[in-house]
Amino acid sequence: PCITLCSGSACHATGSHDVAARLAEELEKQGLAKEVDIRRTGCHGFCERGPIIVIHPDEICYFQIQPDDVPEIITETIKGKKVIERLVYDDPATNEKIVQESKIPFYKHQQRLVFGSNSSVDPKSIDDYLAIGGYNALAKALDRMTDEEVLEEIKKSNLRGRGGGGFPAGRKWEGSRNDPEPVKYVIVNADEGDPGAYMDRSLLEGNPHAILEGLTLGAYAIGAHEGYIYVRQEYPLAVENVHTAIRLAEEYGFLGKNILGSGFDFEVKVHKGAGAFVCGESTALMTALEGRVGEPRPKYIRSNIKGLWEKPSVLNNVETWANVPMIINKGADWFTEHGTETSKGTKIFSLVGKITNTGLVEVPMGTPLKDIIFKIGGGIPGGRKFKAVQTGGPSGGCIPEDQLDLPVGFDELTKAGSMMGSGGMIVMDEDTCMVDVARYFIEFLTDESCGKCVPCREGLRQMLKILTNITQGKGKEGDIELLEALSETAMEAALCALGKSAPNPFLSTLRYFREEYEAHINEKR
Ligand code: SF4
Repeated sequence: PCITLCSGSACHATGSHDVAARLAEELEKQGLAKEVDIRRTGCHGFCERGPIIVIHPDEICYFQIQPDDVPEIITETIKGKKVIERLVYDDPATNEKIVQESKIPFYKHQQRLVFGSNSSVDPKSIDDYLAIGGYNALAKALDRMTDEEVLEEIKKSNLRGRGGGGFPAGRKWEGSRNDPEPVKYVIVNADEGDPGAYMDRSLLEGNPHAILEGLTLGAYAIGAHEGYIYVRQEYPLAVENVHTAIRLAEEYGFLGKNILGSGFDFEVKVHKGAGAFVCGESTALMTALEGRVGEPRPKYIRSNIKGLWEKPSVLNNVETWANVPMIINKGADWFTEHGTETSKGTKIFSLVGKITNTGLVEVPMGTPLKDIIFKIGGGIPGGRKFKAVQTGGPSGGCIPEDQLDLPVGFDELTKAGSMMGSGGMIVMDEDTCMVDVARYFIEFLTDESCGKCVPCREGLRQMLKILTNITQGKGKEGDIELLEALSETAMEAALCALGKSAPNPFLSTLRYFREEYEAHINEKR
């Protein structure tokens, strides 16, 4: 048998480290240390219920394991082949006990093409990654595909960047590749900073080789020989695991000089961010990588043409790079079978807030919001009513109940006044004040504004002041119009995407919940 134990940051916080130690100790004590393999994997996604273990081959899944449960698990389940009822999933909708992970509604309704391997590989073992077909895509590309063919496959897949804008990755790569400048860079944006979002952290912690493989394929396609992973320093486990993965990939010949005997050279460096949210913005990230203060710069020329040190630079986020090996392995035609006309593949969302099943979920693009929230998320706890879901991070927007049929996709969410962003999804119930929500996000963005341009630096501060007054019963006639005017100025004139999209939380809550603003203002009068 093999026991996989979730060892992502969330499960670390709930004691998976102690469970692992106790498992090793008890298996030794009961003479099973050589027969049972313990694999400490990345995040399994159902973070609400961690620490999670799955006992293979029967796929018996136990939740919220504590070290004191371990002796019983070994005696009863490993030796006695019996299921311990109190540790299995108790479906609140049906009161049914569900033993196998794949049958639990949280997992059953997902399609985990990118995230699925997280729960089977030990991120510190390159052999685990190789065992699931890891580095096959790189070997295939270097052996049988020209760099141009790799690029064409990515273009054909219509893979769009998962970090926010949804720009087609292939077109971005092509711009860099076609530039005559001989020095080019590829970069992983792992500066995930949206409140409630942790998809990229979990991928980097749990399956770092997939990101390295995707990055190397990108480098081969555009002709880069150097790559960077810009990762938040607040993600220590991701930093540790990615360092280990780079070292092992170099030892096995998947990185460094003359990769797999192909003559292609590529090296990767890790850069730890210094805690600024704005450094998730492409130009600010590149400025920080250059060793300067991480502030955005004007994009007169796109960074895939003049980026890091003014060289052509392809920047994609963690999830985008993680899709690349799969596309090269299985082909663009396979990839485009998933998703909608304009949004292909799957998307990972972090489902948080007033939701029964908090965690990371991966669904095909085009899945209706209500399926994510009710079928996978299990709905709103405590019998309360759903009110809205905020998608797209702090610069995203709130989508109300009558739009729950909306399929998740880049264009669909934008049309609804929100955005895909990197995949944050915060659920709100009937007790949530939407003006408070807008105030919270504007406060976050005011704190994180770098201050370089006036519409964002001063405009957001004024918006925060007005919204605070409204929530404190000091709102006055004309406040809504003033907020709209400040929003318009920021959207038109702010230098970077942070400022341009910052008014979204206000505008989307005003669009769908205007009566709450008016009630706050009128209440006071
Ligand atoms: Fe800085 Fe905001 Fe201007 Fe962006 S929009 S450059 S974050 S002040």
